[in-house]
Amino acid sequence: MKRLLILSGKGGTGKTTVAASMIRLAEARACADCDVDAPNLHLVLERGSPETEDYHGLPKAHVDEARCTLCGLCEEMCRFGAISIDGHLTIDARACEGCGLCDHVCPVDAISMLPAVAGDLLLYRDPEKGVFSTAQLRMGNGTTGLLVAEVKRRMEKASRQAPLAVIDGSPGIGCPVIASISGVDMVLVVAEPSVSGISDMERILDTAEKLRAYTVVCVNKADAHPRMTERIRAYCSERDVPYVGEIPYDSEVVRAVNRGMAPVDVECPAGEAIRRVFAETMKILDRSPHAGPGMSR
Ligand code: SF4
Ligand code: SF4
Repeated sequence: MKRLLILSGKGGTGKTTVAASMIRLAEARACADCDVDAPNLHLVLERGSPETEDYHGLPKAHVDEARCTLCGLCEEMCRFGAISIDGHLTIDARACEGCGLCDHVCPVDAISMLPAVAGDLLLYRDPEKGVFSTAQLRMGNGTTGLLVAEVKRRMEKASRQAPLAVIDGSPGIGCPVIASISGVDMVLVVAEPSVSGISDMERILDTAEKLRAYTVVCVNKADAHPRMTERIRAYCSERDVPYVGEIPYDSEVVRAVNRGMAPVDVECPAGEAIRRVFAETMKILDRSPHAGPGMSR
């Protein structure tokens, strides 16, 4: 299996619409949405009901009130303000970050760290369309690298025979992005033609380079700021990063997504441009050596 990851420095760049289009064009039988803070790839992938499994994040602190002497030490030590004492001790599970310090300092062993469900892992299996793996976090929980790795692992386990996997990565440059990049064969960065978009792109390229991931770049809404688009193209050339094309701003994209379709499902300039980006990306991906599961290059 070759793994193609779609990334952008932040949300709103069109990363998911590009990912959905790539899945359609490649007829990918394995795909994943690792943007689990705001998953929306399922809106354009038309799948049935998923198999669900609890996702356990960091454990949360629980108090045994029969043992607690209300000494106040844990309240004083908790840096997250999760513990309050007012006649009895209360732990706010949403504020608790699971660091375990209260458990460590309690002189009477009244606190235990217990597993907590942070979200749901979702796996869609379709005999014709293949496997789609994603997750839905519960209120107050954030994306972690562990969760992203689990979403990818479930996709791979359920679709070992698929020749290509397309993964919609987490935005930003933090731990979830590093987990998204790990083990993929190629990263397609969807850059935005703006000063912040260029800065975001540079940071992703730096991160991908450190993880030895092969990277290519395209620009979305390229005609919104032609001078910035030209800067991105020049930057890629200087850095020897393949530039695989430009997608124009196209109001048809929003209309297509609102109807549960990808831009390549309708006749429109953006859809045509994404087809060209796809063809260039696949040419390079086909030539790239295999990274192999759990490896980065
Ligand atoms: S585990 Fe850490 S964050 Fe949670 S209540 Fe204890 S000290 Fe606070
Ligand atoms: S440190 Fe232990 S005994 Fe003291 S208030 Fe916290 S839970 Fe209760």
